[in-house]
Amino acid sequence: MARYIGPACRLCRRETVKLMLKGARCETAKCAMERQWRNRPPGMHSWRRRRASGDYAVRLREKQKVKRYYGVLERQFLIYFRMAERMKGNTGEALLGLLERRLDNVVWKLGFAPSHRTARIAIAHGHIYVNGRRLNRPSYLVNQGDRIGVKPSERSQKYIRLAFGDGGPTLQSWLQVDAQNLEGTVVAMPAREDVQIPVEEQLIIEMCSR
Ligand code: SF4
Repeated sequence: MARYIGPACRLCRRETVKLMLKGARCETAKCAMERQWRNRPPGMHSWRRRRASGDYAVRLREKQKVKRYYGVLERQFLIYFRMAERMKGNTGEALLGLLERRLDNVVWKLGFAPSHRTARIAIAHGHIYVNGRRLNRPSYLVNQGDRIGVKPSERSQKYIRLAFGDGGPTLQSWLQVDAQNLEGTVVAMPAREDVQIPVEEQLIIEMCSR
């Protein structure tokens, strides 16, 4: 499973938006996007560079922003795009809906992990159960009615409970969580407003349709 292993804050600085990749730190004054001397694109001469202005550059930045927020690489992103194209309705909304339904995103939104990255680690290490069965694939797409739980072992429960309630996003209406038993339920499919970063999905569709 290929993944980006470089500095997370660099990605936010490049996209000039907080992608919330580092959990609780993202909410503090230590966040690079909150510091005046770091709140600019990475690189030695970034102050000289102009903002992306051409059509291609603007569309590319929009696509990269979404990929980096959800932690997917190009190949996997194009698979989601092809799936969205085959779905009924608006392709851009369908694409964002698919990305929202990824298991690592749901685990983060339920508060079982402080960031997408740590959610992926928790899933890959077998701490997360879906419908009572272990599932170690962060790209699994949840469906309405799925129950997301924690492995019934002392170690896993302790590991997830440490992260639970440690900041993270506000619980959205398409998810429910039972804090006592550390179990979440997908009560509806995610809507467009559930995407928490500013995205112009039409630009992504124009880029990928070329
Ligand atoms: Fe780093 Fe999080 Fe701030 Fe992004 S939002 S710059 S990942 S601390």
